[in-house]
This record gives sequence, C-alpha cells and structure tokens, in this order.
Amino acid sequence: MRTKDSTEIGRRTARVFFAIWPDSNAQRQLGGLVKRLQLEALCGGRKTKAENIHLTLVFVGEVEIDKLEILCRVAKEIRDSGARAFDLVVEKICYWKHKGIVYGEIGRIPQELMSLVTALQDGLSHAGFSLEQRAYRPHITLMRDASCQTLPELTEPIAWRACEWVLVKSEQTSDGSVYVPVDRWSLDS
Ligand code: ATP
Ligand code: MG
Repeated sequence: MRTKDSTEIGRRTARVFFAIWPDSNAQRQLGGLVKRLQLEALCGGRKTKAENIHLTLVFVGEVEIDKLEILCRVAKEIRDSGARAFDLVVEKICYWKHKGIVYGEIGRIPQELMSLVTALQDGLSHAGFSLEQRAYRPHITLMRDASCQTLPELTEPIAWRACEWVLVKSEQTSDGSVYVPVDRWSLDS
C-alpha cells in the first residue's frame, strides 16, 4: 500500500504571497531595464521575466489550500476598510551584494504602502499565520544570483499608480517560478 508521500502532501499546499504588479507601461520599462542589464553585461545572473516583475507586500509561504480563503477574507476586510491607492516610483537601481540581488528601489516610500503592509501583517497574524519578523524593505527584484561591477543610472524614474493588489501562488517549475494569481483587491483612488 502506498503511504502519503511529500508530493501528495505538496499538492494540498501552495506557496503564496501578496504583491503589487506594475501597470503595462511600467512593466515594459522595467523589463527593458532588465534587458539592458543583460545586454550591457553589467550584471551576470538570472533575469526576472517581465511578466514576473512585482513588488512583494507580504510573503506568506507554504499554506494549506483550504486556508487560501482565510487569506482572501483578510484581504477583503482591508479593502472594505478603504485602503487607498498610491504612486510607486522606482528612482534607482541597487545591488544587494550579500544576496546577489539587483533591484529597483522605491524612492519615497508612500505611507499608504506601509499602511497596507501593516494591515496585512496584522490581519494575517490575527488569523493565525506566522510571518517573518524582518522589517519590510520594499524592492523590485530585477536579477538574482547577480554579480555586478557597475549599475546603470536610470535616465528617468519609472512610475505607476498602484490601484490593486494580488494574492499570488508561486509554482516552482523547471523554467523557474511561475506566478498564478489567486484573487485581487482594489485600492480606493
Ligand atoms: P525564485 O525563488 O525562483 O528565485 P522568487 O524568489 O520570485 O523566484 P518565490 O521564492 O516563490 O519566487 O518568492 C515569491 C516572492 O516572495 C518574491 O518576491 C520573493 O522575493 C519573496 N520572498 C520569497 N521568500 C521570502 C521570504 N522568506 N521572506 C520575504 N520575502 C520572500
Ligand atoms: Mg525565491
């Protein structure tokens, strides 16, 4: 008789996180930046595919599938409480040498972004999810396993208005992580 193995258990769970995706214009600009990092051979490493570029709000990690609805309920409560839209402006390209990550830095961190992250962290903790205790540092990962000598200057900031956030499943495939949206919630403009 076959016992339950890790694959079977794995199917009952999902790796999930809350995030904000750039609008199509900002996605194109950020994707162009990744290409430039590669073409100009400024940084070796693994590029983030344009469609995968995002700003993580809260990484939840592995959860049982039947708990996804609790995550959605927490998000809906935050949406109903009137969480507000905000502008995101990437002003600089930076490199975390110890993590091997090249990322776009949000210049001025909007208060509304921090309120949304705090509300999610509080709501999720209250609902029994254990989250990482590290302080939130908003960043948009462009390259991983990178090794950089120089970084390009941005000729102009890359900006968009964050009008919604998403709960995303991260599926690990032989072609890297594939992100599958589970649900999305609007921010009041
Ligand atoms: P890959 O793991 O293939 O390099 P990835 O890091 O984008 O791709 P995931 O590891 O599933 O895919 O992570 C999804 C998102 O959550 C990413 O933005 C990642 O930076 C963030 N993340 C992953 N692990 C953590 C963690 N322990 N704490 C905070 N954020 C995390
Ligand atoms: Mg990862």
